[in-house]
Amino acid sequence: MPELPEVTVISEDLEALAAGKEVVRAGIFRDDVSNAGVAGFPAKLLGKTLERTGRRGKIITLDFGEVVGLVHLVISGRVVQLPAWQEPDKINTAIVEFDGGPILAFTKLWLGYFDLYEPERVGEHPLISRLGPDPFSEGFTVEYLMDAFKRKASIKGLLLDQSIVAGLGNIYVDEVLFAAGVHPMRKANSLDFAEIERIYSATREILHEAIELRGTTFDSYHDAFGETGKYQHRLKVFTRAGEPCPVCGTRIQKSRVAGRGTHACSTCQPV
Ligand SMILES: [Zn+2]
Repeated sequence: MPELPEVTVISEDLEALAAGKEVVRAGIFRDDVSNAGVAGFPAKLLGKTLERTGRRGKIITLDFGEVVGLVHLVISGRVVQLPAWQEPDKINTAIVEFDGGPILAFTKLWLGYFDLYEPERVGEHPLISRLGPDPFSEGFTVEYLMDAFKRKASIKGLLLDQSIVAGLGNIYVDEVLFAAGVHPMRKANSLDFAEIERIYSATREILHEAIELRGTTFDSYHDAFGETGKYQHRLKVFTRAGEPCPVCGTRIQKSRVAGRGTHACSTCQPV
């Protein structure tokens, strides 16, 4: 699933490709791809100009002035450029053509969506309404985390919870906790100030570096230009089960925490 860095890259790509351009054709495959429905989707977008793009958690925002597109790629969705207009189908689930190009297809939105909201109602979107602070926002502070972590839940479970921090997923949570020297199974309320401070710093540093390297690609994620990310080469524990820890040489262990495959070094991250 694209996490904060990948969604940031795609959002910035879309602005580079289409900002200032007017929508001349648009369609979705089925009613369940967008809250606007098959008929409402083009009706709301035709003639609108993409002003800017952004991100809320893992949702791409496309600001068309009177209407805002909220795109959630969820697991396997991608944004690709089509050589020519075609009718939306099972793979190219939503398509938007801009005057003079590009023709953007939002693929495989089977669990995802391309919703259309009035700008003043974006905050009411069911996912956006419960997002916690973004890691790059002013609300994301050590003090905020100290308060949010006053719970018995595993630290991994809390960092995955979008209502605690917006944008993190399985890959970056494992990497952040390794960098912070905190085992993913640790109860959040057992962490001391120094550990929380390290989680705070590692979150910003790792996400920043991953954006610089244009995200992590395993299979489905590509940016809007079709290129893969490079951060997979920097991963220290994620998908490295059985390999030596880059810090101490202990074998990286894979376990299940908060229902997700989890990678950690038992020496650098004592339980
Ligand atoms: Zn280690």
